[in-house]
Amino acid sequence: MITKILVANRGEIAVRIVRACSEMGIKSVAIYTDADRHALHVKKADEAYHIGSEPVTGYLNAHNIVNIAVTSGCDALHPGYGFLAENPELAEICARRDIKFIGPNADVIRQMGDKVQARNAMIAAGIPCVPGSDGNLADVEEARILANKIGYPVMLKATNGGGGRGIRRCDSDKDLISNYARVISEASKAFGQPEVFLEKCVVDPRHIEVQVLGDSHGNVIHLFERDCSIQRRNQKLIEIAPSPQITQAQREYIGSLAVKASRAVGYENAGTVEFLLDQDNNFYFMEMNTRIQVEHTVTETITGIDIVQEQIRIADGLKLQYQQEDVRFRGYAMEFRINAEDPKNGFLPSFGKITRYYAPGGPGVRIDAAMYSGYEIPPYFDSMCAKLTVWALTWDGVVERGRRALNDMLIYGVKTTIPYYQEILKHPDFRNANFNTGFVESHPELIDYTIRIPPELRAAAISAVIAAHEGI
Ligand code: ADP
Ligand code: ADP
Ligand code: MG
Repeated sequence: MITKILVANRGEIAVRIVRACSEMGIKSVAIYTDADRHALHVKKADEAYHIGSEPVTGYLNAHNIVNIAVTSGCDALHPGYGFLAENPELAEICARRDIKFIGPNADVIRQMGDKVQARNAMIAAGIPCVPGSDGNLADVEEARILANKIGYPVMLKATNGGGGRGIRRCDSDKDLISNYARVISEASKAFGQPEVFLEKCVVDPRHIEVQVLGDSHGNVIHLFERDCSIQRRNQKLIEIAPSPQITQAQREYIGSLAVKASRAVGYENAGTVEFLLDQDNNFYFMEMNTRIQVEHTVTETITGIDIVQEQIRIADGLKLQYQQEDVRFRGYAMEFRINAEDPKNGFLPSFGKITRYYAPGGPGVRIDAAMYSGYEIPPYFDSMCAKLTVWALTWDGVVERGRRALNDMLIYGVKTTIPYYQEILKHPDFRNANFNTGFVESHPELIDYTIRIPPELRAAAISAVIAAHEGI
């Protein structure tokens, strides 16, 4: 029986995991670097251990983290998302040290973390994939020949990518040649691996993903889909469950595809199978995330199933508590990623002290946050500081509840994406549930740019904000 869990993460997801532990009577152990001395996850966990003065590297040191798990008497480790969550070595080190890793086994993490291997496994299992390369690209000439065979537009993608980075659309040979080196450089910098591959670009698709749960007894079920089509630069901003843009027949079809895909790779624990839906109603497998996702809250809200608790039960060797027919959903849930960014200023990160924070409440409102009044958002991490999830019985109801709750949510001291979401909620296409992944880019009028920051100056602008923050 799992009695104590090391939470190998920070921010709202660490708090989320601590909450699941608390409800299950399990002790929780937090880790933190100097920058996180005053972080909420440190205050909420039963114990907390310092893992270094440098802000980020401590969270990436798998050996040290597992050592802390062992010496503090933990019997399991939850990786959250980001950091080491999809690092197969962490799962292996846990296995060697007799710590239960709350996620799938290292081989599945490795296979699905490589988008080329994942595609090939899915093709072998009879899951539809967009046409693309069957291996990593050797050079730009190979890319050019393949792109001409598939037909433009194509997507150049980092094989080991995540978080929306290392992905570029190419509309011509010229585009491809100029983007090739750029994607390799982005991939090397962001993921430490230069491999890239290519696939057909689905124009204006909907991003529909399916939550799955698999136990160690061979049972796999799905918890329906999420619509994550509202994105900016391939990163999700608003997520919705169920999708208001598909039919019940399509829902059943992708649910069963996701279960088939998971079974094909022997998937265990919670995972997400991501699909693109094209304008002709074809679904294509895109990737599988072998971890808890940011937007798991919308699925929890419509199904009533606590996914983090299920993850812990699965890692403990227990059978799934639900059969497919037991899983039902009710109404609609919508999550807003509240990022400390200035939408009027090129979405530049906005760090600093939260001078005052009022959380929204009332019916159908859930907050997953890593902040409080007086908390200083450090500049070293992801800019997401809270998630607002709302629920209502109908689509119109959830849109109105989202608007009302965003209005109720007051964050002073830093700029956030709240005003931008309020603009999206007013748009007739959004209200009529008719949007695809091009929505944000095709509606620049929703962002009242007071200053436009050209992409090539963005890195310098971010460094300037960090320097100002540190008083350099
Ligand atoms: P989700 O897939 O859960 O919807 P994101 O893609 O936005 O969420 O990723 C959540 C967080 O995890 C972000 O901070 C992102 O930068 C980080 N992340 C995701 N994949 C990777 C990866 N392969 N390497 C490093 N960080 C990642
Ligand atoms: P990540 O691992 O960073 O999440 P994904 O492969 O899931 O990367 O792609 C992220 C987003 O990029 C998708 O949600 C979608 O909007 C866009 N995208 C990726 N591949 C394609 C494609 N072949 N055609 C069109 N859009 C794509
Ligand atoms: Mg993805």
